[in-house]
Amino acid sequence: MKKILLIATGGTIASRPTENGLAPQMDSAEILSFVPEIKSLADVTAVQVCNLDSTNLYYVHWLKIAACIEENYDRYDGFVITHGTDTMAYTASAISYLVQNSRKPIVFTGSQKSIYMRDTDARNNLYNAFVFAVDPSACLVHIVFEDKIIIGNRARKTRTKSYNAFSSVDFPEVGVIRDGRVIRYVEEKVAAERPDFYSQVNPRVFVLKLIPGEKFLLLSDLKKYYDAIVIESFGVGNLPFYEDECFAKAIEGWIGCGKTVVVTTQVPHEGSDMSVYETGNAIKKRYGVIEAYDMTIEAVVTKLMWILGGTNDAEKIRKLFYTPVQKDII
Ligand code: ASP
Repeated sequence: MKKILLIATGGTIASRPTENGLAPQMDSAEILSFVPEIKSLADVTAVQVCNLDSTNLYYVHWLKIAACIEENYDRYDGFVITHGTDTMAYTASAISYLVQNSRKPIVFTGSQKSIYMRDTDARNNLYNAFVFAVDPSACLVHIVFEDKIIIGNRARKTRTKSYNAFSSVDFPEVGVIRDGRVIRYVEEKVAAERPDFYSQVNPRVFVLKLIPGEKFLLLSDLKKYYDAIVIESFGVGNLPFYEDECFAKAIEGWIGCGKTVVVTTQVPHEGSDMSVYETGNAIKKRYGVIEAYDMTIEAVVTKLMWILGGTNDAEKIRKLFYTPVQKDII
C-alpha cells in the first residue's frame, strides 16, 4: 500500500462556524477521520503546516509547504495538501515552481462546504485526491476538485459557490476521476529521480488591471516598492497611448532601471498576442517587455516570484519565464 503524507493548511474543508463566520478549526487528523474509506487506499500520515483561511496564505506558507514536501520526500510516495479554495490556484502554481519535476504526485484539494456538513463536497474531493495520489500514472503538481484533475499552474477558481469551482484554463484537464478510477486524457511523465527544490522567492511583484481612461499616475512611483509589474491589458495585449503616452513612458522608466514588465490580458481565455495591434506591438518592440501569452495570472505572478528569487538578470528572467514548467506556457 502506498504511503501518502496529508499536509493540511486550513480552508473551508477544515472550518466550523464561529461567532464571526466560518474559520478553520479542524486539524489534519480530524479531517481525515471523516473519510474512513481512505484507509483502504493508502497508508496515510497527517501533518499540519498552518490552519488558515487561504485568504491569509502567501509566499511564507508556500515555502513552508515546499519545505515539508522536501523533508518528507523520500519517506512517502505522494502528497495530498488540503487548502482553502480562494487562493489554492496561487499556491498550487507556486508549488509547481518550487518543486519541479516531481515523480511523486503533489495533489491539492479543498471544498466549498466544510467536511462535517451533510451535503459537503469535501469528502468526495478528499477521497478523489487520494485516488489520484495512489494512481501509478500520477506525478507533478495538480488540483483535484470534484472529479477533475487539473495541472496546478493551469487552474483557476472560476466559481465562488458551485462544487465545480475550478477550471483548467486554456489547457485540457489531464483527466477525471470516475467511479473511483483515474481516467487519463493527457499523458504526463517525469524522467528525473528527484525533483528540483527551490527555497527562495521574491514577492515584490505587482499586478495592475487597466480600466478605460485611467492613466495610473502612480505607475512610475510603484517601482520604488516592486521589482516586477504585471499589466493586465486589454484584448490580445493592448495598452492605450492616450494623448501623453503615459503607459509607454512609465514602462520605459521601469525597464530603464532594470525592472521586469510583463504584459498579460484581462480577457479570461486564449491569452495575448501583442503583435496584432499597434497598441501592443509598439510597446513590445520598443521596450522588449515580456508577454504572458496563454499563462494564467496565478502562474505569471508565482513564476515571477520564483524566478526573481534566484536572479535579477534581465536575460535570465526572460529565458526562464518563457521556459515551460509543467504546461504553464505553450
Ligand atoms: N475562504 C475559504 C478559503 O479559501 C474558501 C474555501 O476554502 O472554499 O480558505
